Amino acid sequence: RIVTAAAVSPNEENVDRALRPTLLSEYVGQELVRDQLSIFIAAAKRRGEPLDHLLLFGPPGLGKTTLAHIVANEMGVNLRQTSGPVLERPGDLAAILTNLEKGDILFIDEIHRLSPVVEEILYPALEDFQIDIMIGEGPAARSIKLDLPPFTLIGATTRSGMLTNPLRARFGIVNQLQFYTVEELSKIVCRSAKLLNVEVEPDGAREIAQRSRGTPRIANRLLRRVRDYAEVKHGGVITRDVADGALRMLGVDAKGLDGMDQRFILSIIEKFGGGPVGIDNLAAAVGEERDTLEDVVEPYLIQQGFIQRTPRGRVATEASYRHFGYTQSKGGQS
Ligand code: ADP
Repeated sequence: RIVTAAAVSPNEENVDRALRPTLLSEYVGQELVRDQLSIFIAAAKRRGEPLDHLLLFGPPGLGKTTLAHIVANEMGVNLRQTSGPVLERPGDLAAILTNLEKGDILFIDEIHRLSPVVEEILYPALEDFQIDIMIGEGPAARSIKLDLPPFTLIGATTRSGMLTNPLRARFGIVNQLQFYTVEELSKIVCRSAKLLNVEVEPDGAREIAQRSRGTPRIANRLLRRVRDYAEVKHGGVITRDVADGALRMLGVDAKGLDGMDQRFILSIIEKFGGGPVGIDNLAAAVGEERDTLEDVVEPYLIQQGFIQRTPRGRVATEASYRHFGYTQSKGGQS
């Protein structure tokens, strides 16, 4: 799926890394978050203390990992990266924590997927920079306390609602990343094009930006696909027409909706009379996991006003009917 926001292959992860800005000043958009962080970083540096623990949430591909690396870079410290599902046992996390150096940043992606036993190790680590670990088994087992160097946890999650209250309460700074505007994404496309040595006209960049679901990772991915098309068919320069032709060929429509988005909305309209319909029924109808629909597909469709979440289920809006060429919504003729 071309418009999926998650990185899809190791190769793409490498490109992601290469295109990642390394300074706060190069990070496009998210002004509120940037302004806050630049103050907190400057203050922490002045005091010679680590930054407060930071929670970043928002849909995939909006720049959470990038921001964590930038914070480490600006603070002049190391970043250790792991993720919720990877940390299966308390020992996995204890091993990482005891290897941190003073001031280091520990980045835990998908932090809402930490197992409860691992999460419990994290509480005293975050609060008092200490961990309790069990040594031995049975009656001989005893717990010992280890001191940790002061460090900063940066947690990333697609859904802040999935975090337990005690974990959330331990973050001093909580920031939500927003979808990017077309202007911001155009800037990102132009910057990436330079790094990839691709010639892109402003209109071409804008066309890609408009069809990137508000998401930098998708903008960068579409840029690379459009580049291939431009090289093969048009001597390499990305104009508006070239971008449009390439994106059409890839099945990305004028609003940036791809096959999954289209199936999702059309299911609501055609199979469920416009809604309300429960997410589990929709997941079955489009053959996708509920989590993916909630984390990846829906947020952008809601933000763009194509669907609404109501207590009784999902509803297609007037904008959806219009986008797909229906003249009237439910209740009228289509
Ligand atoms: P997340 O961790 O939220 O899934 P990433 O941080 O991996 O997202 O971002 C995906 C890619 O998008 C990065 O490799 C980077 O090139 C680009 N990107 C994200 N945010 C920005 C930004 N604000 N400015 C420029 N590029 C960005």
